[in-house]
Amino acid sequence: MTKILHRMIGTNLPRAVAGEGIYITDNSGRSYIDGSGGAAVSCLGHNHPEVLEAMKAQMGRISYAHTSFFTTDVAEQLAEQLVEIAPKGLDYVYLVSGGSEAVEAALKMARQYFVEIGQPQRRHIIARRQSYHGNTIGALATGGNAWRRALFEPILPETHHVSPCYGYRDMQADETPEAYADRLAAELEAKIFELGIDKVMAFVAEPVVGATLGAVGPVADYFKRIRQLCDKYGILLILDEVMCGMGRTGTIFALEQEEVVPDLVTIAKGLGGGFQPIGAVMLSEKIYRGFSEGSGLFQHGHTYIGHPIAAAAASKVVEILKRPEIMVNVIAMGERLQAGLDAALGQSPHVGDIRGRGLFRGVEIVADKDTRQPFDPARKIHSRVKKEAMQRGLMCYPMGGTIDGIYGDHVLIAPPYVIQPEQIDLIVDRLAAAINAAVAS
Ligand code: PLP
Repeated sequence: MTKILHRMIGTNLPRAVAGEGIYITDNSGRSYIDGSGGAAVSCLGHNHPEVLEAMKAQMGRISYAHTSFFTTDVAEQLAEQLVEIAPKGLDYVYLVSGGSEAVEAALKMARQYFVEIGQPQRRHIIARRQSYHGNTIGALATGGNAWRRALFEPILPETHHVSPCYGYRDMQADETPEAYADRLAAELEAKIFELGIDKVMAFVAEPVVGATLGAVGPVADYFKRIRQLCDKYGILLILDEVMCGMGRTGTIFALEQEEVVPDLVTIAKGLGGGFQPIGAVMLSEKIYRGFSEGSGLFQHGHTYIGHPIAAAAASKVVEILKRPEIMVNVIAMGERLQAGLDAALGQSPHVGDIRGRGLFRGVEIVADKDTRQPFDPARKIHSRVKKEAMQRGLMCYPMGGTIDGIYGDHVLIAPPYVIQPEQIDLIVDRLAAAINAAVAS
């Protein structure tokens, strides 16, 4: 009998007792390939000796010092490392303990920035439908994931949503990617006008949409068009790289592939690699100056921000991510994964789209490949895929409601960056078998 309020009450979860490389072992001795890094977290696999060593060394120095009294070498070092690897223009770091906290902090930074610079009327947040930015109230309100929001809708603060950039479903057959990007930019501009051009404070988006859409990247120029609009109307661009960042897509920041620099970027998951809970907001000099030349503080804070052991883990993870062979492997193994999935599932009448970047890939499952008709949600295809995959010793990250929060199913694959070719092939075999079994049952 458990005393934990688990995510799903009454399910018989296996107990994880050990992790090594890309594998997790349960208490019955079964091992599972961590094909999704949990939820795109374990970027260096489990039990990485260098990260463990760095954490132990920090524990021997100091484990906790409240950030209103002290800073620490390790937190300062992590911030310097992050600024060094980030695109130019992201000059400062605010450390937190996870993705939702990072998003909350970014939203509050945006709000306080406008108050500091004398534009207190700016208060509106625009984000996109079919996105996820976290589960705390502000982050949940920002996300456009309909089913996650529904229960809490009456207590969510006001936010506004426009269409995601979801080429497989929303780009017209006779439309070029440029025309599609223009259409989406026009929709955002209309929303800005509707809310008042001097009332919007931030536009928030995931560069590559993770959990909600299943590794959907933007069409070329989309983010350039968005950046232009934000500049035109003085709106801050917040890019949420909690899931797609820290090398997941083949570049340390996914936004590098879009050639835009946001005003604020949120990171987490791969930053701590699962060794410690940690997240961060990176901010531009402009925002920092808003605070430093204004009230001289950012009116926020949590007990565990800048936690030394979390910072030690993240600092080592970042040091490892910088080694050239890591991103080389992400790109090569990502291509192998895509090619393997194309070969194994590309002809399936129930696989509509296989997409993604680097080691961040999604498979969209459909009832009919030609019409792109989704399965009846009552069949819970995504849950079946998860169950079938676990039975085959594979962890993957399936989700329903891909299209509108109700219809659609996809599976996200996000294995550790240290994965080897034969392990990619095992993921492909097991996932294909799990999907085939799920749609047949
Ligand atoms: N933002 C994105 C894009 C995410 O994918 C997630 C989690 O999946 C979050 C924010 C929230 O992060 P956390 O679960 O660490 O609070």
